[in-house]
Amino acid sequence: MSTQSWDPYWRQHGACTHRQSDGLFFAHQGSAYQEEAVQICRRCAVATECLAYALDARVPEGVYGGATAQWRRELLARRPDVVSWRDLLERARAEARSKESVRCSRSSAAAGEGLVAHRRGGDQGTVVGREQEH
Ligand code: SF4
Repeated sequence: MSTQSWDPYWRQHGACTHRQSDGLFFAHQGSAYQEEAVQICRRCAVATECLAYALDARVPEGVYGGATAQWRRELLARRPDVVSWRDLLERARAEARSKESVRCSRSSAAAGEGLVAHRRGGDQGTVVGREQEH
């Protein structure tokens, strides 16, 4: 699964895909089973896609993307203006990743400057190649 873009095949990549766990995902509100389902979703690589689907399709039951049906109902009631949850969540994720990338580039550049400064200091053997990291 790509971590860079929306996964159109998210159903095949879910953490629950190969589990016999429908009972968990459709357990009673507030039950331990439901909490277990939420925990599985938290480790799922396609939770955003799954949540967007459930919100856009107005799925009335079950845990999707780590969100219970009640939580989704409340969110939908608070945000009647949202036409496409997929668009909204896809954009939000892209923006978050972009900020993360800038932060990573900055720390990488700072680390590179540190390494260059260190190399200029004379210990070239220990830093060769490390400027390419990240
Ligand atoms: S987010 Fe949860 S319900 Fe959705 S695919 Fe992943 S594990 Fe399954």
